[in-house]
Amino acid sequence: MKKYMKKIIFTLMFAIFGLSTQAQTEKCATMQILEKRIAKDPSIKLRMEQSEIKTQKWISANSNAKGGIQLVTIPVVVHVLWNDPIENISAAQIQSQIDILNEDFRLLNSDSLDSSHPFWQFTADTEIEFCLATRDPNGNATSGITRTYTDSIAFIEMDSPKYTVTGGSDSWDPTQYLNLWVCHLNDGLGLLGYAAFPADLATDPDLDGVVISYTAFGYIGTATAPNDLGRTGTHEVGHWLNLRHIWGDDTCGDDFVADTEIAEAANYGCPTFPHNANSTCGSGVDGEMYMNYMDYVDDACMNMFTYDQGIRMQSALNGDRAGLLTSLGCSAPTGLLNEGSLENGFQIYPNPSNGNFTVDTHMLKYDNISISVYDLLGSKIQKFENIKSFPFKMDLNDLSNGIYYFKINCGNKTITQKVIIAK
Ligand SMILES: [Zn+2]
Repeated sequence: MKKYMKKIIFTLMFAIFGLSTQAQTEKCATMQILEKRIAKDPSIKLRMEQSEIKTQKWISANSNAKGGIQLVTIPVVVHVLWNDPIENISAAQIQSQIDILNEDFRLLNSDSLDSSHPFWQFTADTEIEFCLATRDPNGNATSGITRTYTDSIAFIEMDSPKYTVTGGSDSWDPTQYLNLWVCHLNDGLGLLGYAAFPADLATDPDLDGVVISYTAFGYIGTATAPNDLGRTGTHEVGHWLNLRHIWGDDTCGDDFVADTEIAEAANYGCPTFPHNANSTCGSGVDGEMYMNYMDYVDDACMNMFTYDQGIRMQSALNGDRAGLLTSLGCSAPTGLLNEGSLENGFQIYPNPSNGNFTVDTHMLKYDNISISVYDLLGSKIQKFENIKSFPFKMDLNDLSNGIYYFKINCGNKTITQKVIIAK
């Protein structure tokens, strides 16, 4: 493979914000949002250029020394925004997205390139992992999931999911968590998601995070082919950690990464290897690296980050996103560890309710789970035994208004949660 020679950084600055004029569907709105924001506030461009200089400095100091790379676990809070109940996706579907992130970023994905493939040598374990947060910003135990009913049938304004006042959900401290919103995006555009870059964190913390369509989230439930393997999440979190599109959002553009082959434009569907070999842009005999997560191909046809993409993401974690390195979001609060780990595993919603409760869990294996309902005096009113599938719906409409307790038995452990019926 002919390595793409990186041009010097100051030349590149002119190409960073080249406007994309592609007529094809934009699966990801990350760059369009950035361009719009720069049009309104030109200082953003300067800030990103300064951040890029810092990034390149860190990369040159660390890219050859493995010492710069460390295993990092990023706490994630998933904000589910729903209008139609189908958009209120299950905890298992959320966990399936976290699992995909962990596989893809650690090169544990079962579809990674075979060692005989010419691009195999560039595939990389980025040493970045993710957990659903077990501790919230107040130090309390959490499932790492928030659920918000919204009046928005579809989110058209890109910033709306990120604010409670506009029908979304306010973010958790973005220096400590990856905020990931799942909602109904504007269907007509074929838009799957978008992300904020690290350079924006300090000046626009409210806008930090990743937004993904409920139809392209995780690999079960509402995930829909060809976006049903969780790779929208992998792609957008790549942006959130400062990766650019592989074609540099311009004809033969630059993605600021040395070991990705130069690409003429976005690739779609499922190209055959080698694709666009010996292009006018200068791709080598092996063609473009369309199977990179930062291209636009179908989920089933993308399968790799490169080593230099990994370094670039590590640079973000040692720069603008350094707060994550000391975040306690993945450490369940002390003292609640045993009970808490089980407690984190279940969610009851809505609470209060009119008597229709849903109990959900992000545990993918269920073992002899039962739920008993007690009243304030401690009398057992009802018991649901041997529950095999979640989310599990409970109809307690016959009960009068008041406080009740759910005792959830899971294996040999029990947790008790207070619920309120208010009709
Ligand atoms: Zn993108």
